[in-house]
Amino acid sequence: MEKINNALIKDYTTYKLDGYIKEIIFPKNYDELKVVIKDLKNKYKIIGNGSNLILSESYNHPLINLKYFDKLEFNNNIVTVGAGYNLPKLALECAKKGLSGLEFASGIPGTIGGAIYMNAGAYGKEISNILKRVTILDEKNNLKVLNQEDLKLSYRDSIFKHKNYICLEAEFELIPGNKEEIIKEIKKIIETRKEKQPLEYPSAGSVFKNGENYSAGRLIEKAGLKGTKVGDAEVSLKHANFIINKGKAKADDVIELIEIVKEKIKKEENIDLILEQEILR
Ligand SMILES: Cc1cc2nc3c(=O)[nH]c(=O)nc-3n(C[C@H](O)[C@H](O)[C@H](O)COP(=O)(O)OP(=O)(O)OC[C@H]3O[C@@H](n4cnc5c(N)ncnc54)[C@H](O)[C@@H]3O)c2cc1C
Repeated sequence: MEKINNALIKDYTTYKLDGYIKEIIFPKNYDELKVVIKDLKNKYKIIGNGSNLILSESYNHPLINLKYFDKLEFNNNIVTVGAGYNLPKLALECAKKGLSGLEFASGIPGTIGGAIYMNAGAYGKEISNILKRVTILDEKNNLKVLNQEDLKLSYRDSIFKHKNYICLEAEFELIPGNKEEIIKEIKKIIETRKEKQPLEYPSAGSVFKNGENYSAGRLIEKAGLKGTKVGDAEVSLKHANFIINKGKAKADDVIELIEIVKEKIKKEENIDLILEQEILR
């Protein structure tokens, strides 16, 4: 079984925080995955591209990465894809085939599994708009196929957040469109992101969820918190709902900065900001 002990956190997460994690395991296929899970008796965490995670050195369980679950199969406008496949790469592969619907995902640096877990979205679109069904391993290690209705997809939420399911494979239904137009849209989205988001620094995207009637970024900016720092973790000057790693930030720095932001917004606006990112410690 492929595994790495004492792996650098920065090699497996987009925040690129300082430190090491105990162990990361890369099962090659379903049979290996089943063996690993049985051995670990639920004391593990699946990790995709680590693009929504604040991963601390103190996190004690092995991580399981599904990078070998990278199947990609097209059947007209239906695409079947492994949970470890890269989301922006999928958006591009679909575009090359003249299939529309995933353009919004072109700047979301996750895997298919992580994107479904989060019901990732941007620019008014989200995974739920195109997802048809998924193959999962349930908590008793049974293979099951769940339809979109079973997945309880809502704003950055899904059944995966509430049950110990592992997403293995997904089926999306896309819309035939004009290849050049789709690629143009992807380029536009990537340019907009570069303009608005601090992509020149490591981060994990939006720190907090937006509320029904507030934008977390606007509240943080209004509170004058842009540029606030703990160690090398900083509230981005470019986009207030991003925390960036300016060098050797540790998970504890990011977590302390999050607390500072939450406290100030509670005090000034009486709003409890809800974390979109996930802390593993
Ligand atoms: C620059 C930047 C921009 C971003 N922009 C956006 C955006 O516009 N919209 C948006 O929604 N998000 C955005 N994100 C956040 C992030 O990319 C998404 O949440 C993404 O879907 C996370 O996928 P991942 O594979 O990295 O998951 P990870 O961060 O590795 O994991 C997230 C969660 O998913 C679980 N998980 C991962 N794979 C599986 C699986 N196969 N089965 C079960 N559970 C699994 C993990 O256990 C964990 O709980 C951004 C991040 C960055 C760095």
